[in-house]
Amino acid sequence: DSRLMAEAMEECAAEGIDVVRLGYSDIIGTDRSKDLLVNRFERTTGHGVAFCRSVYGTTPMGDVVDIEGGLAAGLPDIVAYPDIETIKTVPWEPGVAHVIADVFNPDGSPSAESPRYVLKQVIEKFSSIPGTPICGPELEFYLLEESDTNDSGWARYGESPGNVYVSGLRGDPENVLLASLRQLGAYDLDVIAANHEFSSGQFEINLWHSDALDACDRAFRFKAAVKEMARAGGKLATFMAKPFNDEGGSGFHLHFSTQDAAGNHLFGDPNSHNGLSAVAHHAIGGILKHAPALANPTINSYKRFGPDTLAPWLIDWGLDNRSAIVRIPPERGSASRLELRLGDASANPYLLTAVTLAAAYLGIKNEIDPGPALEGYGYDPERSPKLPSSLCEALDALEADSEMREVLGEGFVTTFLAYKRHEIERFNAFITDWEFREYTYHL
Ligand code: GLU
Ligand code: MG
Ligand code: MG
Repeated sequence: DSRLMAEAMEECAAEGIDVVRLGYSDIIGTDRSKDLLVNRFERTTGHGVAFCRSVYGTTPMGDVVDIEGGLAAGLPDIVAYPDIETIKTVPWEPGVAHVIADVFNPDGSPSAESPRYVLKQVIEKFSSIPGTPICGPELEFYLLEESDTNDSGWARYGESPGNVYVSGLRGDPENVLLASLRQLGAYDLDVIAANHEFSSGQFEINLWHSDALDACDRAFRFKAAVKEMARAGGKLATFMAKPFNDEGGSGFHLHFSTQDAAGNHLFGDPNSHNGLSAVAHHAIGGILKHAPALANPTINSYKRFGPDTLAPWLIDWGLDNRSAIVRIPPERGSASRLELRLGDASANPYLLTAVTLAAAYLGIKNEIDPGPALEGYGYDPERSPKLPSSLCEALDALEADSEMREVLGEGFVTTFLAYKRHEIERFNAFITDWEFREYTYHL
């Protein structure tokens, strides 16, 4: 509204901001943005800012995807409007502020490619059941540096046999992580902790919880900011799910609970056998039931799953058990929550959260019993069903899950499936290093 816009413009003037970066999350989670001069911002955004909807950008083939409004229709615009309440000064770029946009089709209808809209629609479903969703994202990622000895030209930053899990100082010789932590704090993303992960060059940063939309806005900005700051320092930050054969993958753990209008958290119940409420059990039931359809987004995602990895492999839940897709951290009372460990870092935060909340909503609405919690070793395939082993399987499961399609929106699901199936087609047509090594000598 115009009062908020006026306030934002005043604040920009006071802080010496002359450029506002207007960015929206595309379907894969990249921040697509245009830099606008602040003294023309109100005028420029008044009727929306038109963007070309090209998703893969550098590979025009990606745009041949057969979607509504795709290349076959001439690749019409999508139109972005700022959500002015989200404007924030970018601490490492003097004079620049960033604002998150919502995107629409030129006729004003919400774009099927707007992950933020998809999430808002799913959150809206929670108005018919008690409790609104609260989320806390945790993201792992690798930092890479240029190398002439490595085939790809990139090696893991700070690699040393002396690096230790959960020990930031040793794996960060140039204090890249430390500097990022400070900047992310100044960017007001409510980051709380950073640590070295299992592998050299792999780190984790945790964000505090808040309502689901705000948590996703922060996670979306966080990923873009980490990549940007790394690039500025000559490094490459990657949220790819499993970049190396012999090292751990990168997870996107999502902490989740619900809260009523008075601020009471609804997942704890001191009188139940495990301290969790019926609603929490139903949310878990929904997540397990719909897990095959939650669709981690890339071909590479499915290489992160496996026994003994601390990434999941089976569809299960457990009390403080790190092998399950749903872990219940030990805190109870108002901190009672689920930690969803299924997602990998490559996920679009809005979409990972949307599918998780959609499944939890269906579980709560339909009072789905999650069955008994896993105890002990969590990688026994006799006990529990396996997660999909490929993107192809997961997309088929999503397509077959009519309840999930309904909650997420048919338009979005159709578009998502088209993009992702096109990705599979491109991959299937490409000859990999593995095939060359496996087949040239023996065959
Ligand atoms: N890297 C693991 C994953 O891919 C998680 C390790 C941890 O629990 O921190 O999910
Ligand atoms: Mg971790
Ligand atoms: Mg975690």
